[in-house]
Amino acid sequence: MKGTQKDMRSGGLKTKGFLIVLSGPSGAGKNSVMNAVFPTIPNLKYSVSVTTRPPRAGEVHAVHYFFCSEEEFDQMLKDDLLLESATFVGYRYGTPKKFVYEQIEAGNAVIMDIDIQGAAQIKAKMPEAVLVFLLPPTPEELSKRLRLRGSDSEEVIRRRLAKSREEVKHIVDYDYFIINDDLNRAAEQLRQIILSEWCRVSRIDLDYLQQLWKGGSDLEANES
Ligand code: 5GP
Repeated sequence: MKGTQKDMRSGGLKTKGFLIVLSGPSGAGKNSVMNAVFPTIPNLKYSVSVTTRPPRAGEVHAVHYFFCSEEEFDQMLKDDLLLESATFVGYRYGTPKKFVYEQIEAGNAVIMDIDIQGAAQIKAKMPEAVLVFLLPPTPEELSKRLRLRGSDSEEVIRRRLAKSREEVKHIVDYDYFIINDDLNRAAEQLRQIILSEWCRVSRIDLDYLQQLWKGGSDLEANES
């Protein structure tokens, strides 16, 4: 993880912000991979989701999730505050709109850990979003990781494993895949994807670029 970038927009060239959707079976290691990337890309911001799922040990409100009741979730939907939403293994999840729009407006990249249903909704609304699928090396390894985590009941683990088999079929709807058999390599691949996506010509603020290169500098006057 060398070559820390201070500001992805350095050099004066303004770029538009964009979304990175990270999906993959629970237990694939999405949090670990993202946490390794955040310190290396300061203009990368995390979209904290809203959920009706109860917090797991160590999860902090407004850091890992905004934990809420069914009624509060319904109200957010009614007030059109969510960019996408889905039900996953009995609980509801959604992405608050405001934060995403503010960060994109500021030229930042926003990463969100959401399931395949949410990813499809985002791609339909924002086709320029980048969809990345994180896979554990094998189903056996995934099952081992979920049991080691010790945070879910055997019934929930069973349902999450069944769900993951379904999710993997949707990998074809994604732009990139990463296999998380080695955390450092997986994090480096995610970092490279984000940095490369930042270099898409479609992300340039063209008005700014044209202004910068419109000519008429002293150097040009001397050259002619
Ligand atoms: P977990 O309960 O393990 O934190 O998350 C369960 C699943 O919900 C994961 O696949 C995760 O990516 C997904 N998820 C988390 N937040 C959101 C969200 O805001 N929207 C959607 N659609 N899925 C989410």
